[in-house]
Amino acid sequence: MSRSSSLPERPKLDIDPDMSPSERLAALRDHFEDIVGVHDELADQLESARARQDDLREDVDHLQRENEALKTSSLYIATVEELNEGEEVVLKQHGNNQEVLTDVSPRLAEELEAGDRVAINDSFAVQRVLDDETDARAQAMEVTNQPTVEYDDIGGIDQQLTEVREAVEDPLTDPDQFDEVGIEPPTGVLLHGPPGTGKTMLAKAVANQTDATFIKMAGSELVQKFIGEGARLVRDLFELASEREPAIIFIDEIDAIASKRTESKTSGDAEVQRTMMQLLSEMDGFEARGDISIIAATNRFDMLDRAILRPGRFDRLIEVPEPDAEGRTRILDIHTRGMNLADSVDFEELADRTEGFSGAEIESLCTEAGMFAIRDGRTEVHTVDFEDALDKIDREDATGTPVAFY
Ligand code: ATP
Repeated sequence: MSRSSSLPERPKLDIDPDMSPSERLAALRDHFEDIVGVHDELADQLESARARQDDLREDVDHLQRENEALKTSSLYIATVEELNEGEEVVLKQHGNNQEVLTDVSPRLAEELEAGDRVAINDSFAVQRVLDDETDARAQAMEVTNQPTVEYDDIGGIDQQLTEVREAVEDPLTDPDQFDEVGIEPPTGVLLHGPPGTGKTMLAKAVANQTDATFIKMAGSELVQKFIGEGARLVRDLFELASEREPAIIFIDEIDAIASKRTESKTSGDAEVQRTMMQLLSEMDGFEARGDISIIAATNRFDMLDRAILRPGRFDRLIEVPEPDAEGRTRILDIHTRGMNLADSVDFEELADRTEGFSGAEIESLCTEAGMFAIRDGRTEVHTVDFEDALDKIDREDATGTPVAFY
């Protein structure tokens, strides 16, 4: 550490009253030069003091950040099991399921209820109550008591619909027939095919038909958003389904947790592996599952680890393709049901012009056509609106970016 250098001596002006004017002038000139010298020296010292001040400021910032990091040590998560008289609670720590009896402050005691999730420190003292938003389980799963999709809302994949009904609906509504025939119903159904072709709709419609709770979890979210919690969430998913049976578990984008093993051994891969192993072990222990069906979906069938396709796991594979012309006609019909269409709109012709469109793309084509009608000040949708919508979609495909509507 450099020490601050001492201040230069203050220059003195020695003028003898007996001096001649020229001698005085010379003395004043010398004094002026001394002052300029001291000034330069002080300016140098000031500059180095400023540089030192900057260095010290950086050190302070660094120490402050370190201090903050030390103060914010990690907290554990626990669930409140019981509230005793006074200010005592029984907590169960997540992860190791250790149960502890601990005191809480009167302020927290008033706020707490059994079932709340709380953050606790090393000494099991409750630091704060977590709101529902922080509950990964609630965030990671979409739970619908009764989805509204009907079989009639799905077009162009009748064969697939029949297969899903046989594999999921029949075991839920008439399990005895499987006993009588002496076969096991399929454990899991895997729907695979391009995006937007109706895989989620199929799962929702069968949940609706069987009055089952629909519980959806997205594989990609498990590994990207809930890092480190994948395996626990899979366990929670099956637990929730057994609390809410009859239930349909729908795992979208299953490829995110069940891809072929790669050579790399990064911690992310290990986490994905743990999540998949948990899923496999839940499915393997599925016999006593009661009224729960499991459906998964993927756009990347080629990437799947074959281990998940073994008997007793996803043992019913159903391919959901892009709709053919007849399918597209049907989907156009479905998505224009509520629209005010001119008689001249010809679905068959539109179906010819929408080759390669998925169900989701046909749905947005219909919405776009409606927007063009509104833009033109009409309440009736004409063929020209579908043509404009097709042009817009073509331009978007060509540029790869959405084209502004107006
Ligand atoms: P992804 O693989 O991207 O998850 P998906 O195959 O699950 O897609 P859905 O979510 O079921 O596709 O479909 C998205 C929307 O597209 C639906 O809400 C529906 O409006 C429309 N759609 C897709 N397929 C069909 C279909 N076969 N019949 C009617 N509408 C469809």
